[in-house]
Amino acid sequence: MSYFSDLGLAEPILRALESKGYNDPTPIQRQAIPALLEGRDLLGIAQTGTGKTAAFSLPSLHRLAADPKPRKPASCRMLVLSPTRELAAQIADNMKGYAKNLNMTVDCVFGGVPVGKQARRLVPGVDVLVATPGRLLDLIDQRALTLSRTEIFVLDEADQMMDLGFIHALKRVANLLPKTRQSLFFSATMPKTIEDLGKQFIVNPVRVEVAPQSTTAERVEQYVTFINQAEKQALLTLRIRALLASKELDRALVFTRTKHGADRVVRHLSAAGIDARAIHGNKSQAQRTAALEAFRQGSCPVLVATDIAARGIDVSGVSHVFNFELPNVPEQYVHRIGRTARAGADGMAISFCAPDEKPYLKDIEKLTRVKIAALPLPENFTTEAARLPAPSRKPEEQERDARRDARDARGNGGRGGDGRTGRQSHGGRAQGRDGRPRDTSPRQERRDADRTHDRGPVRNPVLDTTANGGERDGGKPRSFRPRGAPGVGAHKHKVRRAG
Ligand code: AMP
Repeated sequence: MSYFSDLGLAEPILRALESKGYNDPTPIQRQAIPALLEGRDLLGIAQTGTGKTAAFSLPSLHRLAADPKPRKPASCRMLVLSPTRELAAQIADNMKGYAKNLNMTVDCVFGGVPVGKQARRLVPGVDVLVATPGRLLDLIDQRALTLSRTEIFVLDEADQMMDLGFIHALKRVANLLPKTRQSLFFSATMPKTIEDLGKQFIVNPVRVEVAPQSTTAERVEQYVTFINQAEKQALLTLRIRALLASKELDRALVFTRTKHGADRVVRHLSAAGIDARAIHGNKSQAQRTAALEAFRQGSCPVLVATDIAARGIDVSGVSHVFNFELPNVPEQYVHRIGRTARAGADGMAISFCAPDEKPYLKDIEKLTRVKIAALPLPENFTTEAARLPAPSRKPEEQERDARRDARDARGNGGRGGDGRTGRQSHGGRAQGRDGRPRDTSPRQERRDADRTHDRGPVRNPVLDTTANGGERDGGKPRSFRPRGAPGVGAHKHKVRRAG
């Protein structure tokens, strides 16, 4: 008998856990499950990887099963909101597994795929619906779904929701939910703005917190190499090549600040014979799924990602995390390196720090209270770097890169240089770092979200209901080209950063 039975979960759920090989509840499960079984609201401060999906799924499924009700058309009994498609799909998959011995349906809806099919699936109603906010509201607007019978509401990754500019969507959802319900609110970080958002959803919640937000996993060895931005690509290629040759690297996640930065890293690694794929908001759903699957299965050892795309992705066996650029929000560093050393394994996090990134490093060290060891450049770095092949690029690709660079420069207020305008404007959230909300309009917020994380193509903030590819609802991405001749601009050379 597993220790889950001590928590009072129903037998069909215990059987599902047994078949998954779960014996012991994780700390968040131990803390959250008893209170949730009593029907309490919950405020959870936890990162992915802590077992929080099961922490909210198991007691919710238990309560729904204990009070069986016929499905009502275009309704759901439980709604889980997630910021990204990948995370939504992952949660739905997990919940299907936990519910497999119950007579319950679990469905998942997100943007970037046709809405009609999803609307048709909702006609008879569903017990559990996992959704991204934009697509959820689309379906509600099309009258394919009503939230009036929602008994349990889960808001996952609230801080990431804010980052993506979903605040107004969330407020709308809050107004559409019935007053009497159970609400669960999870966030990896809990600055004041997130706490304030939480107050709109939860009443007298039990508060559970696992692994204080500033701690990095002890089993992750952390290093930093001080290097100029222009040399980072060569260093990354040489490091990965050496680690692959010595068979020390199973899977590596490389974090870049921008989407096109991620693409560039992939091009350089591929030119050096290293199989790598990128995952970010400009990729189609099919490309993202294929890249993630190749990485999961081990056929592609290197995944290059932006923070948004990588958030919540649960892949075991990540041996190395590379921070190609240091995050300017120190908590993001904790999230990133938390991708390795999962499931009892050891991991290594290697950061590349350009001179202008030193303040970010200081912030990270202050938050984590860990002095990150300096890792010197490999021997013969300059000679080896000079030998690396340059990626062959077609003229159109070169033009496209130049256009993106020019666009980046405009996104940074035309400063050029390294593309940073200071922490306030790239603080990673739609609020100041002091936790006070910035005075922003919804449009401005979305624009901010785009710029803050992934300064990719300029999207029309009016037409595009999503921010930054966290999800892209409503079918095709809508982007427009900047005016002016492609590749022409004073900043063209100045802003090249990642290769
Ligand atoms: P999550 O934080 O929900 O993304 O979960 C992280 C990983 O831990 C997932 O792969 C889960 O399947 C796994 N997991 C969750 N709870 C347990 C448990 N009690 N025992 C073992 N693995 C678990």
